[in-house]
Amino acid sequence: MSVSVVKNPTSESVDAALNKPSGSGWIAHKFGGSSLANAERIRTVADIMRGRNDAGQVIVVSAMQGVTDALIELAHAAARNDGYWRHAWNALKKRHEDAARALLGAQARSEQDWLAERFAELADLLHALALLGSPAAEALELIQGLGEIFSSRIVAAHLNANGIEYALLDARDVLVVRHEDLGVAVDWDQSATKLAEWRVRHPQMRVVVSGFVARDVHNRITTLGRNGSDYSGAIFGALFHADEIHIWTDVDGVLSADPRLVPEAVLLPQLSYHEACELAYFGAKVIHPQTMAPAIARNIPVYIRNTFRPELTGTCISSKASIDSAVKGISTIPGLAIVNIEGAGMIGVPGTAQRVFGALRAAKVSVVMISQGSSEHSICCVVQEKQVDIAVHALDEEFIHELARGQLQSINATPSISVLAIVGDGMTGTPGVAARLFGTLARSGVNIRAIAQGASERNISVAIESGDAARALRAAHAGFYLSPQTISIGVVGPGQVGRAFLAQLAQVREHLLRTANLDLRLRAVASSASMLLDDASILPQEWRERLDAQGTPTDLTHFADHVLANHLPHAAIIDCSASSDVAEHYARWIGAGIHIVTPNKHAGSGPLARYKAIRAASSHGTRFRYEATVGAGLPIVQTLRDLLDTGDEIISIEGIFSGTLAYLFNRFDGSVPFSTLVQEARAAGYTEPDPRDDLNGRDVARKLVILAREMGLQMEVADVDVESLVPAELREVDGTEFLERLVEADESFATRFATAQAAGKKLRYVARLNAAGQAHVGLVELPDDHAFAHLRLTDNIVQFTTRRYRDNPLVVQGPGAGPDVTAAGVFADLLRIAATLGARV
Ligand code: ASP
Ligand code: MG
Repeated sequence: MSVSVVKNPTSESVDAALNKPSGSGWIAHKFGGSSLANAERIRTVADIMRGRNDAGQVIVVSAMQGVTDALIELAHAAARNDGYWRHAWNALKKRHEDAARALLGAQARSEQDWLAERFAELADLLHALALLGSPAAEALELIQGLGEIFSSRIVAAHLNANGIEYALLDARDVLVVRHEDLGVAVDWDQSATKLAEWRVRHPQMRVVVSGFVARDVHNRITTLGRNGSDYSGAIFGALFHADEIHIWTDVDGVLSADPRLVPEAVLLPQLSYHEACELAYFGAKVIHPQTMAPAIARNIPVYIRNTFRPELTGTCISSKASIDSAVKGISTIPGLAIVNIEGAGMIGVPGTAQRVFGALRAAKVSVVMISQGSSEHSICCVVQEKQVDIAVHALDEEFIHELARGQLQSINATPSISVLAIVGDGMTGTPGVAARLFGTLARSGVNIRAIAQGASERNISVAIESGDAARALRAAHAGFYLSPQTISIGVVGPGQVGRAFLAQLAQVREHLLRTANLDLRLRAVASSASMLLDDASILPQEWRERLDAQGTPTDLTHFADHVLANHLPHAAIIDCSASSDVAEHYARWIGAGIHIVTPNKHAGSGPLARYKAIRAASSHGTRFRYEATVGAGLPIVQTLRDLLDTGDEIISIEGIFSGTLAYLFNRFDGSVPFSTLVQEARAAGYTEPDPRDDLNGRDVARKLVILAREMGLQMEVADVDVESLVPAELREVDGTEFLERLVEADESFATRFATAQAAGKKLRYVARLNAAGQAHVGLVELPDDHAFAHLRLTDNIVQFTTRRYRDNPLVVQGPGAGPDVTAAGVFADLLRIAATLGARV
């Protein structure tokens, strides 16, 4: 490595090297172990760094992933004189040599030699430990910091091979620290002086620094504590007067909550130092607050970025309070306990709280949260569960007299507590934040044991039972981050209608989110054989591919449990199957709070007992909607419901509810035999594969039953008088034979047509129902001027004769079949449900 040497540094050159005003152009970058796990990743890091045009670049590196652990283990193994250490030493050596070889090509030789020497020294040291029988603290400090010495050397050599000169800074030569009670403190004066001297000899504007390592004031090699290289990043950022510090890791930045617990967690583009510290304290994997101290003191923004997605800007942590949303992050700390001190003796007695905390401090119990009611009747504090016995004992001792005299009633502990905290600068002075938190927790049945809010209003903490923690976290996150009209959606039966529904969803999802604040999240799709579940969401345009690739065997119970995600405000299942088995689940699903929307007629027209169970289950605001079961997307069920809801009385309902039969009789004018028309309609896809499923009238009867039940009539399909158009002798034969022999019925159809024509009438297949529950489905003769006599193609029509619409019935007419219009009917139902949930659709 080439190094420029300047002899006799003058004090001016030291100043010139260090006392740069801010806007110095230096940017500090810190890379963690996972970014440096192997040669390929180191190459990625180098590419990112070379690709930047930082005026000055300080690159602080961790050890390669896992190396610090391996070194510590190695030291202990050697001290135990465990023969294993030789093997581990070899493996570690090889790992570094391999990386150097892969990265350095021709130049590898000298670096290999260097590595070989360092590893030989390490081996000597380990031998010494084996003799001593225990790793001296100093030896351990030295050994565990070697990973950074190795990695920084390899990274610098690799970067150097490309023409631009990178100086290598061994932080042990510059950084001076003291180990204090509250952690590691930097001796800024000494460190700055040493750096200035170093800079005189190394004036390059590109510097690679070993993280984690330092020296103490006695000049002994030391480290900054486990995971200390972030701290190194901030320290060197400060020492170089950097304009920015970039902490490169393997996540996109800071998220609003732990994504393993909250799949909806979102990336936070901006955080204030305060917010980041609060979140870090509450267990969010940001960076340690101590890490940020040097940056905060000098007002240097810290970026958290993903090495594997360098195109993202990540999270910027700075002094700017961004108050675009009141709450930024939500997190939980598990493993706590509540200690409650109760007694009338505390009321108005000054100093009780002080004695409580004094006793706890003397017992070295750290207090996570404190809450005291203004009645002063009790003080409650939250401590680590593992310290709770010590805490209670210390308080018993402290208040031994008060307890004996009955001035204090009790000091007791509740284990298995978690604290949930919401954090955000924007909470300051914003009313309603606490209300929203308590509201969402209450709705998900989470009991709050204690509450605390600091006067900074930047944090509201609640103590809850640990068993409730995950649910509470999700509920709170939904309360602050999701649209309250977020619906978790599962689609069953992606056949023609299901597919059309998913296509429509893909088309309008974004629009609905933007304009109506309605967040429809497709999270599950199930065919009869396989299902796909996704915690976050399935892009509706990708469901097919993903179901094929990642599907698991369908289990509708599991499916429904997944759709009913307690971290999302609402859930709906869209059943586009034509299966009675699926309908069997409805009552339970609805009872559990899942809305159901379906074009499947089985529930509406199947066994009355099942229908009633479904209706009974849906009494708690959970909806069951099935507009598309009758006339596809035509608003037939809705119209009937509106008539009834507004107090009208139905006298009769008549309609043509089969597109197939409508088509056949629209075409049937005596010129072509009926059987030929059936064959043609079948070929055009207007009939079921077996046309008897249309001709037998049962499907029409089912629709009539659905409408009858909507009217409050207790009707079964068996109660409908149905005229089947399938000749009796052709009902049992197989499909092919039926199609061949349908000609046998041509004559009778021709006769019926001729009779009607002679009377000036038209033949139509009509369903009729009256208020008394008389229901008939069959072929009827209608006068030529009847509304049903002039339909187009496969149009459906329904005519409601009611008290209000007595002389001139209300008619709904239009295309009553086809996947697109059916799916649109399903979608409209879903949107109606969404509207009841508050969406502005
Ligand atoms: N390599 C050190 C450790 O694993 C420091 C770091 O990576 O931050 O603790
Ligand atoms: Mg309809």
